[in-house]
Amino acid sequence: AALLSSSFRSSPRPSKPLKVVIAGAGLAGLSTAKYLADAGHKPVLLEARDVLGGKISLVNTKWVDQKSQLRPRYFLKPRADDVPWPFILDFKLDSHTHLNDVQWLHGKMTMEIGTKQACIYSFIDLSIRCNFGYFIAALTESLFCLLQVGAYPNVQNLFGELGINDRLQWKEHSMIFAMPNKPGEFSRFDFPEVLPAPLNESEIRIKSFGNKDGDGALGFEGVETSKTCRKMYRKEGILAILKNNEMLTWPEKVKFAIGLLPAMVGGQAYVEAQDGLSVKEWMKKQGVPDRVTTEVFIAMSKALNFINPDELSMQCILIALNRFLQEKHGSKMAFLDGNPPERLCMPIVDHIQSLGGEVKLNSRIKKIELNDDGTVKSFLLNSGDVIEGDVYVFATPVDILKLLLPDNWKEIPYFKKLEKLVGVPVINVHIWFDRKLKNTYDHLLFSRSPLLSVYADMSVTCKEYYDPKQSMLELVFAPAEEWISRSDSEIIDATMGELARLFPDEISTDQSKAKIVKYHVVKTPRSVYKTIPDCEPCRPLQRSPIEGFYLAGDYTKQKYLASMEGAVLSGKLCTQAIVQDYELLVARGQRELTEATIG
Ligand code: FAD
Repeated sequence: AALLSSSFRSSPRPSKPLKVVIAGAGLAGLSTAKYLADAGHKPVLLEARDVLGGKISLVNTKWVDQKSQLRPRYFLKPRADDVPWPFILDFKLDSHTHLNDVQWLHGKMTMEIGTKQACIYSFIDLSIRCNFGYFIAALTESLFCLLQVGAYPNVQNLFGELGINDRLQWKEHSMIFAMPNKPGEFSRFDFPEVLPAPLNESEIRIKSFGNKDGDGALGFEGVETSKTCRKMYRKEGILAILKNNEMLTWPEKVKFAIGLLPAMVGGQAYVEAQDGLSVKEWMKKQGVPDRVTTEVFIAMSKALNFINPDELSMQCILIALNRFLQEKHGSKMAFLDGNPPERLCMPIVDHIQSLGGEVKLNSRIKKIELNDDGTVKSFLLNSGDVIEGDVYVFATPVDILKLLLPDNWKEIPYFKKLEKLVGVPVINVHIWFDRKLKNTYDHLLFSRSPLLSVYADMSVTCKEYYDPKQSMLELVFAPAEEWISRSDSEIIDATMGELARLFPDEISTDQSKAKIVKYHVVKTPRSVYKTIPDCEPCRPLQRSPIEGFYLAGDYTKQKYLASMEGAVLSGKLCTQAIVQDYELLVARGQRELTEATIG
């Protein structure tokens, strides 16, 4: 990861820096812009929303509550007092509490009156549901503090480059599962930090080699782990599994280990070959007992892709297992210490701007306009502005790209195969309780309940939300297909039902125990692409067949799953492709100039 990053900084300065127009300031777009700026080019990053970060900034609205300890940053002022229900209105956002933050926004929102809570429905068709009658506190502060896995070399390298390593709150090296059969109890997989001699770390030697395109099969990118080292990591992961006796019996563990053997010896080639099978099918084929899937892989599938093992591609699990088992800190997790737009995205923007790049919010691309030869002429924005560049990058979610694809590109196989990649629905639920819950850890927890996936008590895990007196649970509600169109209160009731089963001493559905102070429900109808079998061949490379047009995004081809790491790496690979194509791109620009002059 570090090698690839430094290759951009140390590459010869371009005689004519390219103006690269990038759509979408999620992690992929930010990463593309950052590394292009490092390579001496001029990125212009255009973000549709008024907030940076895309999926890592699941936007929340905060309902105005004078007694609340929350500090709303922006207020929505309706232009008309008397509005029908439901309605569309133009709105303006301006700063209320922080004069420094004054921002003006124009747009359209669909609003429903009468619900107590506020929530943004989606990034795609930005609509908002909220409590009306007061000014409505809106957005930008995300409560979703993402966790990050230790096997994320590119994300870690990025934090290092930005000098913000101290913003990562590392947790114990464990995976912790709730025990639905033993309410209130948890079962842990503890990964030993120090292995007994001769397995201890001093035995581990790391051999470096130049893997500049990030396609290495296993181990850290840019760093190939030696055979000894791989064995250690495997032992560390396997020890964690073997030491846990609460979830799996010994015969189940043995059968599972035997089933996994081909993956361990077959490496990446084997992993990729399993893309055609769902997790459930693979387990059956390998003779792994059903209980292993029920006990462990439902939780893992939901955590990785928000779907169940009968839908998820086994490749997805094997990629994750490889990281967990093969890399020393593969399963180590960290929480960002506060809201991602401010704590992670802003430093990237500062970096881009310090090198002459631009980042513009509220700049939604409406159309990709083409030249006669089918290459990109410009991006047309919703505002009517037309943005031209030497090179164009689309770093939006795949669903948006498909909506905006020009007609005469649609039949090109590179774009046509994108049809198979479709964002999966997911719901985030935030609940503030009136008391501190005892049954929580300073960690991410796997709920292992039918409706929920992972969750965390943010009042314990994340600095920005520390509270010694009241818990705030952030929960991922998945699979969400059946729930995405239901009301917030139905979702909260269902969530409370699940929590009551898991923690009967502390939570009950009638709230006679812990009481809800407030809640948010954030629905994302299209999040990361649904990793069902046979998706892998449909993931596009960053360089498209259209000269001067590139893609970045977690769904594009890179060795990680649709994740933060995947998004950051995709931005680097996109930058790498542009840097490699530099001569061609400059020649293309000159050709266009000549044609325009003659014309
Ligand atoms: P996005 O983040 O979707 O960014 C795309 C950007 O394009 C957005 O900012 C969007 O507003 C913008 N855009 C859209 N349309 C336009 C347009 N027309 N013009 C201009 N801009 C446009 N990953 C992890 O590694 N760890 C986790 O713990 C984790 N948890 C997750 C939990 C949830 C609930 C979700 C939904 C995802 C989670 N992920 C996690 C996945 C991770 O967040 C994503 O893989 C990653 O952030 C995707 O980044 P991206 O830049 O590819 O896409």
